[in-house]
Amino acid sequence: MRVLVTGGSGLVGSAVRYITEHETGRFGGNNQGAEEWVFVSSAECDLRDFEATKSLFARVRPTHVLHLAARVGGLFANMQQPADFMRDNLAINDSVLQNAHDFGVEKVVSCLSTCIFPDAVDYPLTEAKVHLGPPHASNFGYAYAKRMVDVQNKAYHQQYGDMFTSVIPTNVFGPGDNYNLTSAHVIPALMHKCYLSLSPGAPPFVVAGTGRPLRQFVYSRDLARLMVWAVREYVDVEPIILSPSEHDEVSIATVATAIARTMGINAPLTFDTAKPDGQFRKPASNAKLVSLLPEFKFTPFDEALKESTEWFVQHYDKGAR
Ligand code: NDP
Repeated sequence: MRVLVTGGSGLVGSAVRYITEHETGRFGGNNQGAEEWVFVSSAECDLRDFEATKSLFARVRPTHVLHLAARVGGLFANMQQPADFMRDNLAINDSVLQNAHDFGVEKVVSCLSTCIFPDAVDYPLTEAKVHLGPPHASNFGYAYAKRMVDVQNKAYHQQYGDMFTSVIPTNVFGPGDNYNLTSAHVIPALMHKCYLSLSPGAPPFVVAGTGRPLRQFVYSRDLARLMVWAVREYVDVEPIILSPSEHDEVSIATVATAIARTMGINAPLTFDTAKPDGQFRKPASNAKLVSLLPEFKFTPFDEALKESTEWFVQHYDKGAR
């Protein structure tokens, strides 16, 4: 089994690399040498380019593909460039899936996201609700392109019997995240802001909003273990949500406080309640995952957050910012 991992240099791809290189067993390792995991970044192949992607497949000859590569961005970039987000992701996904088909790949596991679900929808989100209404206006270009992966998977399966499927993570965090203050997700942004406040004379750490909204986070290394499992064992064209339970949501205040404690700030935090909170919660059900893999143990959130915060602090001077 040779697994081509696209997006191998990203947050999730680097976690999959870590798990396949540092762990063993059902959710990690290389199946005692029976598997080869090949990680590629955009520097090695621009997947928007069909011919370049064809050359990559001809070189690697994968039996399986874990397709993580995507043009992802923050709220501002998505609102400014919906056409670019849509076009790049449609092109990447078309190149990868058609080449996987042409080269006889046995299984492709692609990656959707809970942020592509309908804006107006009954919660909790489930795998059956991906297409039940328009996505939020702020990321519709990205969201529709991602939704098309599920449509493509079904089309390839219906026409050719291909086993192309997808997984749906909730909010991912972990070592090697994007810490850029203009485009980072909430956890890496809080880490960066908190860290900057530690410098002598710097303004204090202030959390935007009330801190009350709840979010469902998945640790990148747990997600990587689940993706290894999906590549090896998940056989269903329908997508599967990969996340801890909807009952394990955490508030932004809890996250911010835990980050601050890990960085040595023990005083109560300040919340800028004039800033908007965003949606209060957007829970996603992991019932399908639990039914298929009841024995999987997620890393406790506090532990995962502490590991990730320590990683950020240790790597700040090495460019994690
Ligand atoms: P990152 O932004 O960290 O990584 C994106 C990866 O895609 C990088 O390896 C990048 O390569 C690669 N890439 C981008 N454009 C191209 C291209 N044109 N050709 C080849 N490779 C390209 O993303 P994440 O690791 O966070 O996300 C991985 C997947 O998980 C994505 O599909 C995303 O939609 C999904 N997801 C992520 C969530 C999150 O919270 N992070 C939540 C839910 C889903 P390089 O760095 O070399 O440019």
